[in-house]
Amino acid sequence: MRLPQYIEPRKLAQKGGSFDGDMLPEDMPRVMEAIASCESVNAKLQFDIEDQRRRTMRGSIQGDLKLVCQRCLQPVDYKLDVEVNLAMVWDEDQAKKLPGYIEPWIVGEDPEDLHAILEEEVLLALPVVAFHDEDCIDASLLSVGEEVKQPEKSENPFLVLAALKSKSDSNQD
Ligand SMILES: [Zn+2]
Repeated sequence: MRLPQYIEPRKLAQKGGSFDGDMLPEDMPRVMEAIASCESVNAKLQFDIEDQRRRTMRGSIQGDLKLVCQRCLQPVDYKLDVEVNLAMVWDEDQAKKLPGYIEPWIVGEDPEDLHAILEEEVLLALPVVAFHDEDCIDASLLSVGEEVKQPEKSENPFLVLAALKSKSDSNQD
């Protein structure tokens, strides 16, 4: 099942509704800009009214993403697994009163963009930079046949000076 874009979170909380569905690349354009590729992500979401009459959306978002390696600019695998823990609030004031472990989601009576809020959660979870575990840039240099040459001793003025110095040192003996 593909997740709907617009939902009525407060009504869903009242009914104890839930979703188990996918977001496709076209559902999350901002995420796609930040990563190399992915086929889809899956979200499992439960709506509820908890103690103190707090309306919540809890669950997780999972998927196999490819990020861009900042060393070689090739795709690198990334396992997405984000916990969703949101409480619906009417405004900023109410948001500030929430305990720190729960994130505010400002929601009115109108339908809300579910894709957008889930995109937000995914973007927050992505690493700032991604790298391959292996030494990917050295491997790619070797594959195009470039070698890093050590400078020859005679071309290095510091080494020449060092050689002269050690010569004069030994002359003093
Ligand atoms: Zn790499």
